[in-house]
Amino acid sequence: MCPFSARLINGEGGLFQSARLVCHCLVVETSGGLVLVDTGFGTEDLRAAGERLGRWFVATVRPGLDPGSAAVRQIEQLGFRPSDVRHIVVTHLDLDHAGGLADFPDASVHVYAPEHAAALARGSANERMRYRPVQWSHGPRWRLHAPGGERWLGFEGVRAVEGTGDDVLLVPLHGHTRGHCGVAIRIPGGWLLHCGDAYFFHGEVEAAPRCPAGLAAYQRLVAIDNLTRLENQRRLRELAQRPGGAVRLFCAHDPVELDREQRAAAA
Ligand SMILES: [Zn+2]
Repeated sequence: MCPFSARLINGEGGLFQSARLVCHCLVVETSGGLVLVDTGFGTEDLRAAGERLGRWFVATVRPGLDPGSAAVRQIEQLGFRPSDVRHIVVTHLDLDHAGGLADFPDASVHVYAPEHAAALARGSANERMRYRPVQWSHGPRWRLHAPGGERWLGFEGVRAVEGTGDDVLLVPLHGHTRGHCGVAIRIPGGWLLHCGDAYFFHGEVEAAPRCPAGLAAYQRLVAIDNLTRLENQRRLRELAQRPGGAVRLFCAHDPVELDREQRAAAA
């Protein structure tokens, strides 16, 4: 996504230069088949962006519309079929996370129940803009995860995603939306935590937190519960700074973190 401006969003570059934001998705091989974490924009969103995402969103956020960037196309590039994706786990149902659901009609779609309820109710102007019912008009196989669950590294109400061999967990991190969650994935020696939109800039989980002004303002503006969002961000910072580093964090939209994780995955 390429909104204005690079300096206010990425913290470097020109004031009038386009920023760069990404939609960071994961595909994970588990004992239960491929698991996709978040879906970004889907093939239909990229074909008919104005209609599906809203003209205001397209004009201001300026998503790149390369059809090859859809998760389903990238998974095919890796040599898999779309039907190999057995489970999708979404951090939340905003339009830039749920767009690819229709490209995997056979997958079970795991979502925190309060998020699913908020997305279907669209109870405020904010939520009518961010949730796009056309993205789930094909009737996904929803698997709703109710509140309540286990403790995990100091976080409450954590749910294992059934069918993934306990290797994938939903970690409630509300604030950005009513039922926003992180998704933890077990990796050798620790965990990878996809923090979704709980923060937007790598500097926000550093010991001395920092965030470019435009990106900070945007997060405040779209948050459903800003105090809860900030408190969760503080807990994530603590987790990121924990000695030993058994958990590696990244968020959905930071290009610096995507580059870092792609390098790590290739190594
Ligand atoms: Zn997002």
